[in-house]
Amino acid sequence: MAGGETAVIIVAAGRGSRAGGELPKQWRDLRGKPVLAHTIAAFAGVGRIVLVLHPDDMALGLQHFAGKVVLVAGGDSRNASVRNALEVLDPDTFSTVLIHDGARPLASPGLIARVRAALDTAPAAAPALSVTDALWTGAAGVVTGLTPRDGLYRAQTPQGFHLAPIRAAHRAFKGDAKDDVEIALAAGLDVAIVEGEEENIKITWPGDFARAERILGGSMDIRTGNGFDVHAFTEGDHVMLCGIRVPHSRGLLGHSDADVGMHALTDAIYGALAKGDIGRHFPPSDPQWKGAASEIFLAHAAGLARNKGYRLSNADVTLICERPKIGPYALEMTSELSRIMGVDPDRISVKATTSERLGFTGREEGIAAIATVTLVRP
Ligand code: MG
Repeated sequence: MAGGETAVIIVAAGRGSRAGGELPKQWRDLRGKPVLAHTIAAFAGVGRIVLVLHPDDMALGLQHFAGKVVLVAGGDSRNASVRNALEVLDPDTFSTVLIHDGARPLASPGLIARVRAALDTAPAAAPALSVTDALWTGAAGVVTGLTPRDGLYRAQTPQGFHLAPIRAAHRAFKGDAKDDVEIALAAGLDVAIVEGEEENIKITWPGDFARAERILGGSMDIRTGNGFDVHAFTEGDHVMLCGIRVPHSRGLLGHSDADVGMHALTDAIYGALAKGDIGRHFPPSDPQWKGAASEIFLAHAAGLARNKGYRLSNADVTLICERPKIGPYALEMTSELSRIMGVDPDRISVKATTSERLGFTGREEGIAAIATVTLVRP
């Protein structure tokens, strides 16, 4: 057999109005990226991906997936869409093809491997689950009878085929088909059943988004960030540390209120998000931040984390100085940081250390602070 590579056709040309929302379901957000981005990621490393989109969605496709997939415009039915994609596959390169619903973002590597393995011995193979619930017929809200469930399966995708026979089957097929197995059967191909997965859901109804999010919840995202900051002493009668005014014989020099602890904490959050640092979001060259309360910076970073779906699991701030003494203010600092970030105070630690009179903090030339945060997206 020429070629021998596997291609993947992802069919996403429908408008998907049943799942609600203004965007077609395959473009709606699922944990920070479009459903289709999850679907495409599930097939990473399997082979060339051909993505079939509604003609109106081609610009969206380029915006999200340029360079990652081959884009093909769909036809006016599901089988017309699949046929368009099959026609761009060179049989000298590809011997097998997996055809998958764009709205099934949770196909597992094991499921995909089972379908591919079955193609070693069968011209076609598709995953399915046997029906375990009782099946009724009904009318007008009343059960009218029972249907035997023996031998009944719920079909899933990816459905796998040898390229030449499924292409011939598609060319010969007339009418509308629910899936590609129907087209294979019409051409007389044997289709092997492989074990499907309950989690391989097809997003159809509004509630399916919440279910997909719960299933994806198994892959919790945990991020850690650190921040470090220094401000030099200058003339003054107090310092601002973690939002609290602490009387001292000196002040701290800085463009804003020079709250070294809050700056380190803010940078730790930006760091965990891989979103730069305070200077990037609040440039010191911009006069509007002169003398600004650092609360603005911390609230911005915490809000950014929240908007991206992260919960601040804990924060630990260490202030490094000989004086002033921090201990008497530590609780107040904790509750101020708690208020600004909207996080329970028992998840926030403020502590202090000296540097044993060594270095610039030991010589009391300034105060340093380090902070660590952990962000969790369930
Ligand atoms: Mg600073």
